[in-house]
Amino acid sequence: MSRSDDRVVSFGLPILTNVIVSINKSRENAIHNLVITLHETRGAFLDGTRGCYFECRSFMYGTLTMQMQSSNLLSPNPKAPFLNLNYMIWCKLSSNFHDCPDASFASFFAILKDPLEGLDLQDFTGSSLENLSHGAICMHY
Ligand SMILES: [Zn+2]
Repeated sequence: MSRSDDRVVSFGLPILTNVIVSINKSRENAIHNLVITLHETRGAFLDGTRGCYFECRSFMYGTLTMQMQSSNLLSPNPKAPFLNLNYMIWCKLSSNFHDCPDASFASFFAILKDPLEGLDLQDFTGSSLENLSHGAICMHY
């Protein structure tokens, strides 16, 4: 989910369709939220709600805009299924203009998870597992 540049497929493994669907939904939601966060952060530098003074805002706005553009995150706004784009793209964005909390991408990307949290087995137990053919899945702990 974190590092796939495309929809995740089962590769012929006996993985339930609803698990694959959930993996792809989680991947797409994470990238969608990341894109929103980046655009909101860029907007905050532009409208002056982030950055400690004019040069700080200008540098950070320009740096973020250029890095988003070179990573195909700016225009056109990427849309699901986000082909050729993975969630960990934010790790490639970097800036450390000067010593203020708004001048380092690391500070506002700290809320992002690395890697994404996995799915919960409990979400797929019960009726979905009862539909498996015998021997299609084997869980040992
Ligand atoms: Zn600053």
